[in-house]
Amino acid sequence: MTIQTENTKAAAWDLIGSLFWESGRTTAKPSDEEIGLFLDGITAGDTCTVVGASTKDLVEALLDLGAEVTVVDFSQRMCDDLRAALPEGSCRIQRHDITRRAPLELRGTQKFVLNDRLVNRFSEAEARKGLEGMLDLLADGGQVRASIKLGLYPMDERMIANGRERGTLENFYDADAKVIDFAAAGDVLTDSLLPHGDIDPELLLQWYRGRGREQRFDHEDVTALLAAADVEGRGLELTRHTEFGQAPKTRMYTATATGVRSGRDA
Ligand code: SAM
Repeated sequence: MTIQTENTKAAAWDLIGSLFWESGRTTAKPSDEEIGLFLDGITAGDTCTVVGASTKDLVEALLDLGAEVTVVDFSQRMCDDLRAALPEGSCRIQRHDITRRAPLELRGTQKFVLNDRLVNRFSEAEARKGLEGMLDLLADGGQVRASIKLGLYPMDERMIANGRERGTLENFYDADAKVIDFAAAGDVLTDSLLPHGDIDPELLLQWYRGRGREQRFDHEDVTALLAAADVEGRGLELTRHTEFGQAPKTRMYTATATGVRSGRDA
């Protein structure tokens, strides 16, 4: 039996909960146009999982369509706050870390797995496992739709410039792997912090520190990750990528499950 340790990043999101949609930066959420891209071709009764309870507007749009919606999130508070914000019983909300195997009852059941800039919250190992976790949820022929911001965020650029100036860049940024470690940035993080809507700066700092290591991606990184995904012989094939018109260098990647699920899982 494998004993799995808690993903410590969940504690960072436990600090934020509904503040994300109530007080966070509007541009951190998908716009109406972007939600339209996520919904394209989804019809009433389709099984859809949204990974990330913070993506409330997308969940509500799917419910309006009559889709059968499941939300998974590794943060208990995010799950609780979304449950409180939605009509009772409107969808299944389940605590689950997407970098792990899918819960048995959901494995291989979903026509669509949707997430907005979730992959940007992953380290290199989590990105691989997270995409496999999404594939694990998909029924044969189902689709992952994952938006990803390519390149650096404005705050990353400030941190890198500050770190370079102070000679501490190597403490928190691996330029080859394109991985930034917010937990290791110390004062550079404090001094580079950009506002996130009306979220209190002290809370914001704790949130960033708790988010730890995050990879930044270019298009080739994403295609390589998709090509490497493998869950019991099934894979992911990139079928489309679409620019998010209003968000700089942000794309929705659509990947279809290939292969056939073999029998029942033990
Ligand atoms: N742009 C996004 C939005 O509009 O909500 C925010 C990025 S992402 C979807 C944030 C959400 O994903 C949070 O609710 C967080 O708790 C959740 N999350 C982050 N890592 C996760 C993981 N490994 N498994 C499940 N949920 C995760």
